[in-house]
Amino acid sequence: MYKEIKILGQEILPGDSLTLKMDIARLYTQSKLEIPIIINRAKIDGPCLLILAGIHGDEVNGVEIVRQIVSKGFHIPQKGTIICVPVLNVFGFINKTREFPDGRDLNRMFPGSKTGSLASRFANDFIKQVAFNADYCLDFHTGGNMRFNYAHVRLQKSDKELQELAQVFGTKFMMYAKQRESSFRHAMAKIGKKVLLFEGGKSLSLDRSVTLDGLQGALKVMKHLGLNDFSNEIVNENRVPIIIENSKWIRADQSGMYRSFVKVGEKIQIGDILGSVSDPFGFSERKIKSKYSGYIINNNHLPMVNQGDALMNIGLEE
Ligand SMILES: [Zn+2]
Repeated sequence: MYKEIKILGQEILPGDSLTLKMDIARLYTQSKLEIPIIINRAKIDGPCLLILAGIHGDEVNGVEIVRQIVSKGFHIPQKGTIICVPVLNVFGFINKTREFPDGRDLNRMFPGSKTGSLASRFANDFIKQVAFNADYCLDFHTGGNMRFNYAHVRLQKSDKELQELAQVFGTKFMMYAKQRESSFRHAMAKIGKKVLLFEGGKSLSLDRSVTLDGLQGALKVMKHLGLNDFSNEIVNENRVPIIIENSKWIRADQSGMYRSFVKVGEKIQIGDILGSVSDPFGFSERKIKSKYSGYIINNNHLPMVNQGDALMNIGLEE
């Protein structure tokens, strides 16, 4: 007997290779909007992996990573099942925004409900009709707005299996991060699914080193789960991530033009000058001195900042 997999009402049998269209609410012009769910099940049984991007419609690095996986045929397993969803929030993708058309953040709506808002109903449908089948999931994100994340994976510290998967994924950093209430990751963890969250780059922007890191990580995880052997495609197989136990935001203590003197990924020490905030007219400038020793995980690429705006996220080592 093989494991039952049922997606959008259709039973997926060993050897099946198909693309189903998840039908979400029509636009108010009555145009249909569909999300392709690309499913490949090997003849040999094995785990089911969901590769997901675009919960936030403007986070395109993930979309590009999943696109590359599909276009190179890496989504066809020798064992088990791979489900690829390159763009979940198609509405946001079309409008170049993070949110759903009802203004909600889809990643705060899980597990959703049948009778809730549009985003809530959609979240509910996606979990029940697609994601529920997965044992593992890779969920691709970027920094919001203009805040650029150095490629890393986020996970719950308490989960040993996820820790192992994060080590396998092999980004330069892995970060322990509590689950956000009502996120996809949170809802999936509650039903026993293992979700590794990838963060890399910033919204509305493609970054080659980020997409490369994301693709390599996905191949390593697929190999580790026994879905396929990617020995020829994987480079840097045994990179051991630096573990970020905790992170601290550095915020602007005055409004003005922000310039940073450091790069994401860089190691810094207490007392290092990280950047400055000045008025745009050349009268005054205030240097930002680091209160922490650690790594620059995120940097704000938007120079116009208000007092209190997040400038940099510093990762603190274990
Ligand atoms: Zn996101």
